[in-house]
Amino acid sequence: MLPRIAIIGRPNVGKSTLFNRLAGRKIAIVDDTPGVTRDRKEVEARIGGRPVLLLDTAGLEEAPPDTVAGRMRASSEVAVRQADLVLFVIDARAGITPSDRAFAAWLRRQPAPVLLVANKTEGRGGGMAAYEAYELGLGDPVAISAEHGEGIADLYTTALPMLPEEEDPEVRDRDRPLRLAIVGRPNAGKSTLLNALLGEERMITGPEPGLTRDAVAVEWIDETGGKVRLVDTAGMRKKARIIENLEQMSVGSTIAALKEAEVAVLVLDALLGMDEQDLRIARLAEREGRAVVIALNKWDAVEDRTAARRALDDVLMASLAQLKGVSVVTLSAITGKNVNRLMPAVRETLERWNRRIPTGELNRWFEAAVARHTPPLVDGRRIKLRYATMPKARPPTIAVFGPRAEDLPEDYRRYLVNSFREAFDMPGVPIRLHGRGGR
Ligand code: GDP
Ligand code: GDP
Repeated sequence: MLPRIAIIGRPNVGKSTLFNRLAGRKIAIVDDTPGVTRDRKEVEARIGGRPVLLLDTAGLEEAPPDTVAGRMRASSEVAVRQADLVLFVIDARAGITPSDRAFAAWLRRQPAPVLLVANKTEGRGGGMAAYEAYELGLGDPVAISAEHGEGIADLYTTALPMLPEEEDPEVRDRDRPLRLAIVGRPNAGKSTLLNALLGEERMITGPEPGLTRDAVAVEWIDETGGKVRLVDTAGMRKKARIIENLEQMSVGSTIAALKEAEVAVLVLDALLGMDEQDLRIARLAEREGRAVVIALNKWDAVEDRTAARRALDDVLMASLAQLKGVSVVTLSAITGKNVNRLMPAVRETLERWNRRIPTGELNRWFEAAVARHTPPLVDGRRIKLRYATMPKARPPTIAVFGPRAEDLPEDYRRYLVNSFREAFDMPGVPIRLHGRGGR
């Protein structure tokens, strides 16, 4: 899944020339006969070392001048819709024409991020005043000469951060075990739960070189058929009946486990409910960006289950906004009841944590969310948000772009995060949001 880049612009601005320049080969036919429709091609190229697909749209938009805007739009629409990034090329020598303006207005409403490219700026450095390009509302133009190869490095530097982040190879590696941390305060039932999760016969354990003497790598196959690796098992299984005091449950070792884990199972003692200590661990998990599932343990011993459940929901609602909708599995580690529901819940949460939203889908949500609730004034000026990208998953991370987007106030960020979580159904997963100002 390489990111796709579409090169768009009115005829004769130099799209084919730029295409060839970026592709590094003579592929597109420069000065193509007007009206000749060619099949759209995709060519692999590199942008600042990163492999991408260039969508060859050259020759698609030939049209009589009076209907240029409309015709260009129709023919470019497919390419733009498929693109992760659009290079909108203008001819700096010719200046901004009405069809550039019409095109820009349309592009601003499209979901893919747009980079404005002012071509033919060799020699005298263009000729088109920069402010003229600003009028298009697409930010700073990158000045290049496609024909002479000038400004191409600038183009790379600007385009690269606008591309979706490279997919983490770990996500694709299905054979890799899911890394699980079982966290919780002493006596919540972590060791008992681990033993319940492990069928001895399925268990694969062994000493790990480089780890401390009592650290044992514990791996097993869960009921969904996938491999699981317990992170930071130091002493957990062997401990049996040692009474830990609070100091022993050092925050440091919990953080270390969380850093290595993908999903954290927070074990709660249902008889005690969720208190400050549990919340602190949950917040650590959130801070480390981990997906979280709550195991509400000792359910066998709870008398009023409705009240216990409600009490937990109240605490979650009041104190754990970032993990809104987190999965809660009520279970009994000691009797084994419902223990089989834990790993499916973990896998489901992991899937959300890994999920990538395509740019188009993301921006449809983004536009609706911004329309429903316009960004607030900051220092008397309204922050304009133009588009969003999802630079990474694990945890889901959204970047929103626009002049002064980095100044978005906290409550508006929270609004966007909650709206995103709801739109894409991502409960129990911390979500990051970055505002990025004009490029
Ligand atoms: P397209 O119709 O947008 O694909 O444009 P082409 O790539 O076919 O280029 C149109 C014309 O502009 C050709 O004659 C190119 O040689 C010329 N051209 C392209 N890039 C540059 C440039 O950087 N500087 C100058 N001066 N001319 C260019
Ligand atoms: P850890 O410190 O979190 O590893 O907790 P342990 O697994 O050592 O369990 C602490 C105590 O809770 C032990 O006495 C367990 O027998 C008890 N316990 C664990 N799970 C359950 C459960 O599901 N129900 C009940 N009633 N007691 C449990």
